[in-house]
Amino acid sequence: MQRLSLYYPVTPHIVTRIWGVPDVLYREFGFELHNGVDLALTHGQPIHAPFDCRVTKVAVEPNGSGLYVCLLSRSQYEFPDGMKARVEITFMHLSNTPVRVGMNLSVGALVGYGGSTGRSTGPHTHMASKRVHMTLWGRYKDAEQNTAGNTFDPEPYWNKLPAKA
Ligand SMILES: [Zn+2]
Repeated sequence: MQRLSLYYPVTPHIVTRIWGVPDVLYREFGFELHNGVDLALTHGQPIHAPFDCRVTKVAVEPNGSGLYVCLLSRSQYEFPDGMKARVEITFMHLSNTPVRVGMNLSVGALVGYGGSTGRSTGPHTHMASKRVHMTLWGRYKDAEQNTAGNTFDPEPYWNKLPAKA
């Protein structure tokens, strides 16, 4: 079974806040640690799919994520700890998106445009990655429980190639 390999969704790839840093700010959202990585971008800059996936959610949370898109990997991956899981990646604070739930996206497909919607102090996207297990009817649930909102650090999985060639 394949290992997870993530293409850079935004180029140049600049992480302005790493995964897992503690901050009391996140308590309001129910967790203790930064549950994703913040990627620098400019307003309107395209964000591209980091893997082959299906769009599972497009929604707005004015006081949190802003306009966000959830992508479910088409494949299941085997992780270094032995877990086999699919991956859900969420991009937040978008200014706009052309995608709709149910769309299949290949690596590099347009996911949305950078912005600063929701709880955000400037243009960036907060990218949250979760390992998930499928349940019934195309639904899925978090595969693990932790104080970072059940997310994992994507850092070891970048293949260092831009998603959009
Ligand atoms: Zn963030």
